Amino acid sequence: MEKTIFEKIIDGEIPSYKVYEDEHVYSFLDVFPITKGHTLVIPKKHSRNIFDCDPEVAANIGKVLPKIANAVKAAYNCNGVNIFQNNEEYAGQSVFHLHFHIVPRYKDKDANFDNLEVKWPPQQLEANELQEIQQSIIENLEN
Ligand code: 5GP
Repeated sequence: MEKTIFEKIIDGEIPSYKVYEDEHVYSFLDVFPITKGHTLVIPKKHSRNIFDCDPEVAANIGKVLPKIANAVKAAYNCNGVNIFQNNEEYAGQSVFHLHFHIVPRYKDKDANFDNLEVKWPPQQLEANELQEIQQSIIENLEN
């Protein structure tokens, strides 16, 4: 199967602005950043996204996310950071190699091209509806 852009970056076949690398993880700037400092964190071992990723791969990413997020925050003294992770096209995934976005957020929007709007419309459900959802997820954890 044809390599994704991110596998080509790991293999050095196309250039990237690397900020961090270890045995399992590679991190580099998103070349089309949504805010100043937008950084990607990817595992070296290929998986399409979260659904087919080995637990150890997720653990290796989790181990370095705080370090990289802190460095991104400190670099421009941003006011917060969103970490996004898209799985499948309908959820916004466009490169099919697992990746995490570290997106710094700025009160000074213009200076840092922070035009990102995160819409988060909360719903109010009845207890029985929440319990039904809880049960459905628990049943599938056990599969
Ligand atoms: P997704 O939409 O899959 O969650 O995110 C893919 C990200 O990869 C996008 O934010 C996009 O800007 C970034 N991207 C696409 N092509 C390249 C590339 O060649 N180099 C780098 N560094 N980032 C890329």
